[in-house]
Amino acid sequence: MDLNLKNKVFIVSGGSKGIGEGITRELVQEGARVVIGTRSQDKNTQDLLKELNSENETVHLLPGDLRDTDFCRAVVDQTVKRFDRIDGIVNNAGINDNQGLEQGPPAFRESVANNLYHYFDLVHFALPWLKDSKGSIVNIASKVALTGQGGTSGYAASKGAQLALTREWAVELLPYAIRVNAVLPAEVMTPLYRSWLSNNFGDPQLKEQEICRKIPLEHRMTTSKEIAAAVVFLLSDRSAHTTGQWWSIDGGYVHLDRGIE
Ligand code: NAP
Repeated sequence: MDLNLKNKVFIVSGGSKGIGEGITRELVQEGARVVIGTRSQDKNTQDLLKELNSENETVHLLPGDLRDTDFCRAVVDQTVKRFDRIDGIVNNAGINDNQGLEQGPPAFRESVANNLYHYFDLVHFALPWLKDSKGSIVNIASKVALTGQGGTSGYAASKGAQLALTREWAVELLPYAIRVNAVLPAEVMTPLYRSWLSNNFGDPQLKEQEICRKIPLEHRMTTSKEIAAAVVFLLSDRSAHTTGQWWSIDGGYVHLDRGIE
């Protein structure tokens, strides 16, 4: 299936690691151009840029912290300056930072800043260009918005708000034919996930096996590539009549019968 994404321009927040990296890779494979806003500056990020830009300069990375509204504005401005259009935004950057009820109000606010406000800011600043292109927005949320996790109020509140904003923006942007959808991963092995396992469990390998046993389809984690395939479809005009949807890509983890062996 040709997704018609050649030369289209997408912003992917946190697009150099984990799920974001998967999305960037799929977009580049489809011939799209990608602007990544991220604070990651590590060797993996530099290697990824080198690899994806080896033939054409298709991926542009802007370093900064998305908690800073001025940085979100700069990501949009630089994208337009470089490519003169924006066809879509993938709001992906986030961190499950374990800021629960015990941690208190400042930690809660900090967690929401880490996970939520930049989803709004990027879309706000990009709106004029999204109107021009009849663009597509994909919010990467989480199963935690539907199931809870315990001990992570800021993250859960942010993920729930992202689902609400998906429906809210889908309605507000109907007059411009801008589509807005959410993808909900559950268990995907990424740098974030790996550090969550090692920071919270004495035997991370055992915990990983326990989690996989509970995933109905093939008892394995979802890959970043499988999340990215759904995201890229939602960004493309192959999903031209899909908006306001929450799409769980999780091997049936959230919605299938818990009694399944
Ligand atoms: P990851 O491996 O940590 O990658 C996230 C990227 O975003 C990192 O490069 C990170 O930079 C960057 N980032 C985070 N906050 C940022 C900020 N304020 N400013 C600039 N860059 C920032 O995480 P992931 O597991 O791929 O998660 C991606 C998304 O999927 C998140 O929204 C997460 O909630 C969601 N999700 C993941 C899972 C899962 O199983 N992995 C499950 C449900 C939902 P640093 O490395 O410097 O922090």
